[in-house]
Amino acid sequence: MGLTHDIGAIKQQYRDLFELAHQRLLTVFTQLHSKYHCSQCNTPPDAIDHVLHPGCEFRNWQKESIITMEQTIGKQILESLDKIQSLKEVHGSCHSCGVCCSLSSSQFSPDELGTKANEGDPFAQQFLSVFLPYDSHDHAKARHPELVEEIVEQADGPVYFYHCPHLTDDNKCSIYNDPRRPDICKTYPDTPLVLMYKKCGYQPWKAEMLPTTLLAQATLELCQYYSNRILEAVKSSGLSER
Ligand SMILES: [Zn+2]
Repeated sequence: MGLTHDIGAIKQQYRDLFELAHQRLLTVFTQLHSKYHCSQCNTPPDAIDHVLHPGCEFRNWQKESIITMEQTIGKQILESLDKIQSLKEVHGSCHSCGVCCSLSSSQFSPDELGTKANEGDPFAQQFLSVFLPYDSHDHAKARHPELVEEIVEQADGPVYFYHCPHLTDDNKCSIYNDPRRPDICKTYPDTPLVLMYKKCGYQPWKAEMLPTTLLAQATLELCQYYSNRILEAVKSSGLSER
């Protein structure tokens, strides 16, 4: 196995941490719920995205929940992400294996990346400013047989392989101090979620930080989901007032 982690195993870990983050968030809603009381509600609403009657006190429960997600929980997520970044060079360092430059994979074809770049996507713009597509999977395989096979095998859909022509034969970057070297290269790996070659010097960082990253990602996703659900409920109860 050439990759540090099995993609299927990471997805399973994400599902487990998503469940944990969900339980934690529901606990927050429940705790906030106990602060409110409405004399008109015979049965207090138990779901945070309940469509409430006009003038219901529990509207403040919904409001406070949104504020808590945006401020308290949002701050915790940011602190978590900052911590992950700040430990990158503590747990990892570049060993010049050159794999991240000579084999980058994407679910997007060169044309799709081109469209994204034209639409202003900064990642696509930077990526295309250096990376070139391999003509075929066989060309990519000729350079990294084990990895290409593994990535294709584990992918859910199509995979496209790219390489950087600025990589020298001794795995150095020939535009390292050049303004043409994009930020995506300077900050790589920007998240422990990137596919990583097991001999990558950042592997210990990835291994150490993966659960924290997945938990932060799951919490963010849940907060976005519940904020939208609450806003929809608020909108619906506003409509019923007319
Ligand atoms: Zn009420």
